[in-house]
Amino acid sequence: MNMDLDQSFLRELPKVDQLLKHKEIDNLTATIPRRIVVEAVRTAIDEMRQMILMGSYAGDPEQILPWVIRRTVEIAQSSTRSNLRRVINATGVVLHTNLGRARLAQSAKKAVETVADACCNLEMNLNTGKRGSRYEPVENLLTRLTGAEAALVVNNNAAAVLLALGTMAKGKEVIVSRGQLVEIGGSFRIPEVMEQSGAVLVEVGATNKTHPRDYQSKISDNTALLLHVHTSNYRIVGFTKETTVAELVQMGREAGLPVMSDLGSGFLVDLARYGLPKEPSVQETVAAGADIVTFSGDKLLGGPQAGIIVGKRDYINQMKKNPLTRAVRIDKFTVAALEATLREYMDEEKVLHRIPTLSMLTQPVKDILNRAQELKQELTPLLDSLTTVEIIPGFSQVGGGSMPTAELPTYLLALTHRQLPAQELATRLRMGELAVVARVQEEKLQLDLRTVQANEIGLLAQMIIRAVREECGS
Ligand SMILES: *Cc1c(COP(=O)(O)O)cnc(C)c1O
Repeated sequence: MNMDLDQSFLRELPKVDQLLKHKEIDNLTATIPRRIVVEAVRTAIDEMRQMILMGSYAGDPEQILPWVIRRTVEIAQSSTRSNLRRVINATGVVLHTNLGRARLAQSAKKAVETVADACCNLEMNLNTGKRGSRYEPVENLLTRLTGAEAALVVNNNAAAVLLALGTMAKGKEVIVSRGQLVEIGGSFRIPEVMEQSGAVLVEVGATNKTHPRDYQSKISDNTALLLHVHTSNYRIVGFTKETTVAELVQMGREAGLPVMSDLGSGFLVDLARYGLPKEPSVQETVAAGADIVTFSGDKLLGGPQAGIIVGKRDYINQMKKNPLTRAVRIDKFTVAALEATLREYMDEEKVLHRIPTLSMLTQPVKDILNRAQELKQELTPLLDSLTTVEIIPGFSQVGGGSMPTAELPTYLLALTHRQLPAQELATRLRMGELAVVARVQEEKLQLDLRTVQANEIGLLAQMIIRAVREECGS
């Protein structure tokens, strides 16, 4: 390394104060808080100093100041961007847990907006002027839609299971099939939730087979509950047998024990007509006699994050009195969004179009093809000869740990660039001004149009063009 050269380069590094007075930097402070600009100046200078010291700066000394200014602007602007921001979901995973699961219906979004910057009757009965319950706006809708006697809503389904077990079985035994001791993403494991709730887990059967007699042999004076867990995120195929909720109810009645069913992705409309696997709905599970049914608000229901508990009034009332309910209670945004979402279900015809999760799952494949063609048409005239765009058939997923075996036929826009690896394109799209998350398969960047909204096509095209040109242009 040439020490003299280093020194002369280092002398060209601007001072923080000096840079802050520079017109371009000073202009930034009109829209960006000064402390962020100062931090950006420091970071940019440090980056250049490191490059010089490592001998990796290859430019002229006169170019140092302009580089630091450009870099400062870049850093300052990017650090004012929201950390949580909009993403275009081109993965084809309808309920993408990392992308916020369900998108709300327009009506639910409006309901959230209404209560956001105004007061609302969250806990006031406007007829009497007295204290009301925050659960009331959704309780009635839930009982009407599911056929259950009573309902309660908490922060998420994990909390719903915890609260139900803690209320119905604390210090007592809960019998569960070995095949249902599931882990659902981010460390929600039935045995651990059971432990937290203070209930004692009694496992029965083998991983692939559990018979009614397995439960019967474990029922004792210490048993408080028979639990059925919907194995939402995996399937044991082949030589299998699970005891149904109806069979558990039969046994429970004989032994005087309640039955709880944790459905995970509870849904209210039968999606089997649209080619999705046949699974028990919330209504069917209630009708089968389950005393308590728990499910998520933001999986197949297509609403806000919530844990919905429906079932027999006695048990729901006991849960409402449990101090844990206060710790896992929902806020006004959840009440607002959930009420609006549930109201959509009162109209069975329109609900499939109004709840984005349902419309993405049931849309005709030709509509997806149309969107793929529209995107291709926007892109083709703007891309250079290095890029190839084609439309290929593929499969989307339900996601959110729901219906893992469902294969939803879809169309993908596949993009290949002769000099850019697909992974690099995916990274650029993810880091673009409007983030786009896509898949990479067979060395192609693949965009699944099932989860892209019709009004996102133009924006998506722009972001793709930018990602491709970034390297060719600069
Ligand atoms: C997803 C799921 C949960 C957890 O629900 P969250 O709403 O994510 O807390 C619990 N049980 C089952 C069976 C699930 O599928």
